[in-house]
Amino acid sequence: MKRIAVGQLLQETNTLNPVQTTRRHFEVYGLARGREVMDQYGHTEELSGFAALPELLGESVEWLGLLRARAWSGGALAPGLLAELVDSFTAPLRGQRVDGVLLSLHGAQSAAEDPDVTGALLAALRQALGPQVPLVATLDLHANLTRRMVHSADVLVGYHTFPHIDQVSCGQRAAGALTHLLRTDQRPKISAYKLPLLTNTDGRTTDRGVLVSLWKELVAAEDHPEALSTAIYMAQPWLDVPELGWTLYQAYLGERPPLDPERVAAACWQTRAHRQTPFQRPEELVPAALKIPGRPVAVSESHDATNSGAPGDSTLLLTALAGTAIPGGGALSFCVDPQSVARCFAAGQGATLDLEVGGRMDPYSHPLPLRAIVRTLGKVQYTLSGHGGHNLPVDMGRAAVIASGDLTLVLVEETGPGSSPRLYEAVGLDPRDFKIVIAKSPEGFRQDYEPFAAGILYCGAPGCATPFLLEAGFKSVSRPLYPLDEISDMAQAGWAEELMG
Ligand SMILES: [Zn+2]
Repeated sequence: MKRIAVGQLLQETNTLNPVQTTRRHFEVYGLARGREVMDQYGHTEELSGFAALPELLGESVEWLGLLRARAWSGGALAPGLLAELVDSFTAPLRGQRVDGVLLSLHGAQSAAEDPDVTGALLAALRQALGPQVPLVATLDLHANLTRRMVHSADVLVGYHTFPHIDQVSCGQRAAGALTHLLRTDQRPKISAYKLPLLTNTDGRTTDRGVLVSLWKELVAAEDHPEALSTAIYMAQPWLDVPELGWTLYQAYLGERPPLDPERVAAACWQTRAHRQTPFQRPEELVPAALKIPGRPVAVSESHDATNSGAPGDSTLLLTALAGTAIPGGGALSFCVDPQSVARCFAAGQGATLDLEVGGRMDPYSHPLPLRAIVRTLGKVQYTLSGHGGHNLPVDMGRAAVIASGDLTLVLVEETGPGSSPRLYEAVGLDPRDFKIVIAKSPEGFRQDYEPFAAGILYCGAPGCATPFLLEAGFKSVSRPLYPLDEISDMAQAGWAEELMG
């Protein structure tokens, strides 16, 4: 019987979003400790993949649950929260013997006190465990690897898909890596290669675009018997922190890394200027959508993507939608606006109200005055499986469906996935009935919308998740960094770590 500590600290941070992530944001998605970690959440996300460990090891596992803390993408952790979370992970280990640790982390998470939450947690755990206990963690493909992460964890296992649909297999691969370490008692070697490269998600998915063949090669390389993890971590770009950039990461047991890091890094660097998406400003986008036959036209409101940690209450696109006649079904969008939800609930179904919608958290827009009818009142609660979650209970709180002209708007109390049509279905709306439907997601929404959409368009504007990175106002990133700087020698501008086990 092996005794394995297990936990999850999963939130993607957008440091441009001024709304701090608090304990309450984690409580919405469920905080769990001790036995509850696997008993209540062992069927969700990466934890459900970890559950393969006993079978892979060929012996039973006693789980020591540390903490399960999950919040939707948003601003940096509020002051004090990082210390509280780290203590919740390390306290259960005091005086305990464990054979190994499996963690589900994000890797692009930032706090008021420390720009690298994942590194801070891994370093604290390494100190609590000592140097010998194997520590394996999963990360999002948009993790921003730091040297502290690379030094503190034995293996970092990344998603191999974007849109993210491999949470379960990623957890299983982490369990497989830990199995290797427990069986062989070997320390893995690590090759980490940091590129001074910042990109948005444009054309950089794993199923299409400029990186597909590179991804195939990377995924195949992990099948090598001596490979424990091969990953390209592309770094969530709305993260104004030191060491921001792509990282090629390999953990392995053999003589040399499965892939030549310099060759693969150079291949990644070659794609740096690739642009695929014709982002349209809000005022251009609505007429363009109306020209597409059929419905719905699914629109990425990328600059306010809640999946990228934006607040979800920008009114730039909303203003264009509200001010235009939209024949053929009207437009459907949502907005995180607890104040307007409260007003709608106080007024009741059927009431006509003068509201000031959104624009209170998003620093790039203002509240939009809207005379609207309260169509229905309800809640947005559902279980997300697909891009962004697996068996993940989602709770966006009370919801008011309002109508104003050709615009139908779902007002919700809490942020949450902006990529899934389930948000609209939860309040009885079918996105297929509308001419235009808005997803607050840069790319992952395609996974859900493409099967039935008449067209896909991308809107870009100023916002916490703007696709126009040169307008984002970075201050804390390490320089030089492409595209903020011209870089003549990529290898000189990044860093490389080779840990020899
Ligand atoms: Zn991601």
